[in-house]
Amino acid sequence: KGKRAFIAGVADDNGYGWAIAKSLAAAGAQILVGTWVPALNIFESSLRRGKFDESRVLPDGSLMEITKVYPLDAVFDNPEDVPEDIKTNKRYAGSSKWTVQEVAESVKEDFGTIDILVHSLANGPEVTKPLLETSRNGYLAVLSASSYSYVSLLKHFLPIMNPGGSSISLTYIASEKIIPGYGGGMSSAKAALESDTRVLAFEAGRKRKIRVNTISAGPLRSRAAKAIGFIDMMIDYSIANAPLQKELSADEVGNSAAFLASPLASAITGTVLYVDNGLNAMGVGV
Ligand code: NAD
Repeated sequence: KGKRAFIAGVADDNGYGWAIAKSLAAAGAQILVGTWVPALNIFESSLRRGKFDESRVLPDGSLMEITKVYPLDAVFDNPEDVPEDIKTNKRYAGSSKWTVQEVAESVKEDFGTIDILVHSLANGPEVTKPLLETSRNGYLAVLSASSYSYVSLLKHFLPIMNPGGSSISLTYIASEKIIPGYGGGMSSAKAALESDTRVLAFEAGRKRKIRVNTISAGPLRSRAAKAIGFIDMMIDYSIANAPLQKELSADEVGNSAAFLASPLASAITGTVLYVDNGLNAMGVGV
């Protein structure tokens, strides 16, 4: 029987979340996505108007179907957490049940269970600032949006994940090596995400036989990456210096996620899988 995937962090057709959705759909999975509340209207209307039809084409020529789009803000766990200014904000007021707990409940009501959980989101208010100039609030906010959001998603979805299921997040090598410009504590957030991948692999493995892995992806010109401001430089650097001198396509990361989610990876958990044309293995640029 086909598997069901929930992918958090899809709001256009440029990012890793979209590419992962496509690879999972091509492998026969049913696709549910979680879209950041402020981006929901544009995403849904673009989908409806056919703006993404070209990028919905799967290898067999059919179009990827997104069975349901859920509004989501992964920095809030339940309605009690939501402050007044967000509740009354007009970009949020039009949607409901978008905290992590409520989304998991809605998915349970609609579909019962899932097999695959993907976290493809990150956000930091001070990501363009060096760490030395990052405020406490900025640092805590990036950890909340980019690291704890994953702990929270897995915690709330785990009870509805079928044993043998798989959970995947996206990380970046700035967690372990100095990448100047990846600021605001985003490098710290990725270090936390990678460490949590190991601990969560243990806990979710023992509790429900769920595998937990993260993909350390190379640079992609996504919306989030453009906001950091140095993405073209990182792409050029990778093409110049990586063992494989080609631009990384989002589909290559999508296919790796489909592998990790499949029975082919049934003994792989707690790992950081590099999907970066091998750049991580270089010691110096040549
Ligand atoms: P993207 O813009 O496609 O994805 C980020 C998504 O996060 C967006 O859809 C945004 O709406 C969503 N989001 C932000 N805050 C949210 C919140 N509070 N609740 C719910 N959703 C929220 O960009 P991307 O680069 O594909 O990012 C996906 C993942 O890949 C991120 O974890 C990112 O750090 C990681 N990654 C990206 C690169 C790269 O070069 N693009 C490299 C390595 C890792």
